Amino acid sequence: MANGVRVGIAGAGLGGVAAAGLLQRAGFDVILFDQAPGFARLGAGIQFGPNVLKILSHLDGLDKKLEEISCLPDYWVSRQWDTGEIMAKIPLNAERSRYGAPYITIHRGDLHQLMLDCVQPERVRWGHKLVDFQDNGRDVTLNFENGARETVDILVGADGINSRVREKIFGREEAVYTGWLAHRAIIPGSVARDLGADVNAKWWSDDRHIVCYYLDRNEDEFYLVTGEPGEWTSASGQLPSTRAEFKAAFKGFHPLVQGYIDAT
Ligand SMILES: Cc1cc2nc3c(=O)[nH]c(=O)nc-3n(C[C@H](O)[C@H](O)[C@H](O)COP(=O)(O)OP(=O)(O)OC[C@H]3O[C@@H](n4cnc5c(N)ncnc54)[C@H](O)[C@@H]3O)c2cc1C
Repeated sequence: MANGVRVGIAGAGLGGVAAAGLLQRAGFDVILFDQAPGFARLGAGIQFGPNVLKILSHLDGLDKKLEEISCLPDYWVSRQWDTGEIMAKIPLNAERSRYGAPYITIHRGDLHQLMLDCVQPERVRWGHKLVDFQDNGRDVTLNFENGARETVDILVGADGINSRVREKIFGREEAVYTGWLAHRAIIPGSVARDLGADVNAKWWSDDRHIVCYYLDRNEDEFYLVTGEPGEWTSASGQLPSTRAEFKAAFKGFHPLVQGYIDAT
């Protein structure tokens, strides 16, 4: 039932779309604004636990739709970086009944698309970068880079890591580099299967790790993401890398890991 309250959400990423879908169902009049020109299958792998799936079940059974297309690992295996010895084997879907919902691994873009399908499309305004807003006491005026203006009762800031909403309310804060960087890659699932990949595993040495898992029900895509100490001087949060750099960072790791990196 409509409650007449107009909510503007800056950012149609994962948080913004989830908020929009749930607020629409609670009767709010929601408009989503995103700076991007439109949807794109961006990003790579993401892991979602049962707690998140339980929330998404409120979006017209989105949990079931996600389950149909995502990978459902039974276990999460921790392996020794060089010998491959199993150090821990944590049950995920193997103990699903304990949690009452599945644990999924999926491509962020596929997740984002299914989430967007739960929001009325005419309420999503792409190409709207929020540059400023004024809190008028009873409502909020939003100003966009394209010259558009909107007035809403409530503004939700879901505009990600470089949030303009957060900056305007709390002031500008530069990101602090923690000393950790990540290599990311997606390789064909068929290559991973032929090599004998675990469905979901993390390989650990003393100072770095690599996490490897499938992104879909058919195991078409296999994802690699690392955590490594390293220098970072670029102003950008992401840079292209090379297979040679990736190989050098994981020199001495188990042959299975070498096989994955060779396939990038
Ligand atoms: C392109 C991309 C790829 C990612 N890939 C992965 C991944 O592979 N694996 C993983 O675990 N996590 C990934 N993440 C991070 C993960 O999606 C977020 O950490 C998590 O979803 C947090 O959700 P969020 O809604 O806060 O932000 P996000 O999902 O990052 O969404 C923020 C949204 O706000 C929009 N936006 C930013 N500034 C403005 C503005 N001024 N006005 C209007 N819109 C604005 C952005 O275009 C974006 O759509 C990725 C994020 C992005 C943006």
